[in-house]
Amino acid sequence: MPTYVLRCRSCDERIELTLHLDEYEKKMRGGVECPKCHGRAVTPEIASFEVKTARKTASW
Ligand SMILES: [Zn+2]
Repeated sequence: MPTYVLRCRSCDERIELTLHLDEYEKKMRGGVECPKCHGRAVTPEIASFEVKTARKTASW
């Protein structure tokens, strides 16, 4: 299962989510709450390994 790294823009908290892609997309659609400040200014950080996974899938 991939790990997604999110960042809270309010308090700079780093949030890690280990979810299947469909679960992650569902969660992002509903909005992610920061566990520290309970704000909703949470945005994904670019994970380099995600790109690697996509490339591997594309070659097949
Ligand atoms: Zn926060």
